[in-house]
Amino acid sequence: MYWKNSMKDRLIGHFTQGRPGPLVILIGGLHGNEIEGVRATERVFEQLKNYTINGEVIGLRGNLAAIAQHRRYLAYDLNRCWTEAHLRFLRSGAIEHSKPEDQEAIALLKIIDHYAEQSFSTKIIADLHTTSAQKGSFVIVPEYFANHPVVEALHIPIVVNMEYFLRGTLLNYSCERGFISFAFEGGQIGSLDAIDLHEAGIWSILLEAGVIEDAPANFKEDCASYLQQLASGLPNRVTAKSMHVVHEGANFSMKEGYFNFKPVYKGEVLAKDKDGPIVAPQDGLIFMPLYQKEGSDGFFIVDLQE
Ligand SMILES: [Zn+2]
Repeated sequence: MYWKNSMKDRLIGHFTQGRPGPLVILIGGLHGNEIEGVRATERVFEQLKNYTINGEVIGLRGNLAAIAQHRRYLAYDLNRCWTEAHLRFLRSGAIEHSKPEDQEAIALLKIIDHYAEQSFSTKIIADLHTTSAQKGSFVIVPEYFANHPVVEALHIPIVVNMEYFLRGTLLNYSCERGFISFAFEGGQIGSLDAIDLHEAGIWSILLEAGVIEDAPANFKEDCASYLQQLASGLPNRVTAKSMHVVHEGANFSMKEGYFNFKPVYKGEVLAKDKDGPIVAPQDGLIFMPLYQKEGSDGFFIVDLQE
């Protein structure tokens, strides 16, 4: 592959046996401190060679520079920069791309754009993340892909309509380019469970997509029941209703004790910043409360989908 040499560090694995079938691209560490998806992808690639494979499977590290420093990002968030204006900037050869994430984004953009032009039976990009709050296993996907068998095969809560609040995510760009793309959140940052959950989820994606020709009996069912058990008590499907944006220098601090999908009520104090308390704008379930310094999404309120 043309990018293989220059991308040696980025590439976790690239496996094909030349048989037709789907394309599955797994990206871990797009946020450099969320390394669990990288570890899970490494584990899967160690075992892929034991199977007959349809199509092609690619594993990538997202933000190499940030991974090396265990940080979410260095200059800017690699999962909020896939906007039209920024892509135009990245594609312009005449402009100096001096920030570390410029180089990271250009490298990923080349790969996505390359595969956007290739034909496969299905093309999937799974963007693997972990969250700073507890109970962080869910999949973020545009509503039009929410019933896709590969998404449902994850058996974890499905969160739709996040694209109305989060601009410039890699999954939005990938969907625009014709991929079935979603963010697969495997649990809490730093937890070993999150690696196991990601691994089971990746196998579920590969099995459901038809990548593994000679899957052992019960493999799919075993992954499914493991995932189902981890998601027990969590909602099946929710829709994003509102978001609290954290501005630079706001000194945002989330109140202790919140976790994904905990019910909250209108007027409840959820956090504070330099201007005072921040309350829930409506009843609902709190989602992705921010318990780390970096990041501009304070929290979301989601609601059970009818
Ligand atoms: Zn993330």
